[in-house]
Amino acid sequence: MATIERITEYLEVDLDAEAWRCTRCGREHGPAGESYKRGLVVHRRDPAEIHRPLIDPDAYAFTFAPDAEWCQLLEYYCPGCAVMVEVEYLPPGHPITHDIELDLQWLKDRAAARAAGTETEEAA
Ligand SMILES: [Zn+2]
Repeated sequence: MATIERITEYLEVDLDAEAWRCTRCGREHGPAGESYKRGLVVHRRDPAEIHRPLIDPDAYAFTFAPDAEWCQLLEYYCPGCAVMVEVEYLPPGHPITHDIELDLQWLKDRAAARAAGTETEEAA
């Protein structure tokens, strides 16, 4: 049986395979040593679709909606079950962020301690 650690609502890591997985459908998203986003589908959206202008954009240059020339909205979906895993706002052209770096050995040590019943407060 695989040793699974939940990381976020829709992300878990299979410590034996050292791979990211979807918590809903179990689809693998790639090596746990790399960004889970590499295994997801990305939908780039104009942020004004989400944050609609509060005043008439034909009459005013500034409408309280983010400017798509300065800000893009990236939505990340699981290709297996289509759950939205993450959303981030980045300037156009900015590399995708690497926001979770796992200490796989620490997670494996903690899982082994749990299995052996020797988990301590420091290891938890
Ligand atoms: Zn999924």
